[in-house]
Amino acid sequence: MNPESIYIHIPFCKTKCPYCDFASWAKKEHLFEEYIDALISEIKTKCEAYFAMGNLPQPIHSLFIGGGTPSLIPPDLYEKLFSELKKHFQFLNDCEITMELNPGTANDNFLVGYKKLGVNRISIGAQSFNEKILETLGRKHSVDETIEAIEKIKNAGFTNFNLDFIFSVPGMTKQIWEESIYKALSFNPKHISSYSLIIEPGTPFEHIYKDPKNLPTDDTASEFYMLLCQTLNENGYKHYEVSNFAKSGFESKHNLNYWLAKEYYAFGVGAHRYLNGLRTANTKDLDLYISNPNIETIVDFPINYDFEKIMLTSRLNQGFSLKSIERVTTKDKHYVKNMLNTLTEGGFIELFEDNVHLTDKGMFVNNEILLKLI
Ligand code: SF4
Repeated sequence: MNPESIYIHIPFCKTKCPYCDFASWAKKEHLFEEYIDALISEIKTKCEAYFAMGNLPQPIHSLFIGGGTPSLIPPDLYEKLFSELKKHFQFLNDCEITMELNPGTANDNFLVGYKKLGVNRISIGAQSFNEKILETLGRKHSVDETIEAIEKIKNAGFTNFNLDFIFSVPGMTKQIWEESIYKALSFNPKHISSYSLIIEPGTPFEHIYKDPKNLPTDDTASEFYMLLCQTLNENGYKHYEVSNFAKSGFESKHNLNYWLAKEYYAFGVGAHRYLNGLRTANTKDLDLYISNPNIETIVDFPINYDFEKIMLTSRLNQGFSLKSIERVTTKDKHYVKNMLNTLTEGGFIELFEDNVHLTDKGMFVNNEILLKLI
């Protein structure tokens, strides 16, 4: 089946956060227009080649404009981009079109323009409702600016929005975290995502937090996670993926596509795609991308599709089948059976006939659980 999802990467930010290892750059406003032109050229060239190979375009059910900070780009530039996309793809009427927005960049006119173009979901990088934590994260926006951004997107007519958070930040207490969660709930978002802070190699945080003693322990991170799961479950949010919670019917179609190990198109600097059984990536060099947006390298061949699928689907609350473990495991049958019992007794998994379902506690350590089984 041909892909039904498209990812577009916008690599510009107002400032670079010290924990971030995404392909994103600050102070590159002068490149906005050239970058959009490069994206258009990439879409045109690659789509023409892809569909000339006999691949039939599938109706598109999700488009995700991520970054970076896509909300820095004015709507007239997106208009050019959307018009190129529409030449090659047929967008379904209920296509989920998400744009990421950072507080401090919410512009009323831009928001109205995005809505006119068909954007129907906004993902806001709130990260915390505590000033001290925002400062520790090196975020340049304030809590008030996040609140203002939420008001602006609501005023522009967006009802479907996500709030993104980071927990397990140095200096974060249980009370601070709980206050942020309740503050988030007060805005009634349809979706909440939350990730534990990860110290990525090559970022300023790698040096600042060289000593792990300055970071919350795994037990503290687990407590924060369980608090999040419990509070959101009690308030009507379904914990449908390790880091994602949604009101019924508002699960992100785009991200579900990744976790169900389905293929997808992707365009932009550093973008990764999965097409015709092959994962490829674009250059991470912004200038090189702008001068030649068609360079891509093969990332890997999914040699064992079953293995990859189980790694991804185990993140979802629907779980995975015992048969799928049997197909990929290198471990002895009795060992797997005993391990399943141990994990059940420890409250990490629940077994429903042929299905293994991770509990909230299990979701926090989903990779470790899989490694014990396969
Ligand atoms: S705003 Fe997001 S993409 Fe930009 S630097 Fe910060 S974390 Fe990275």
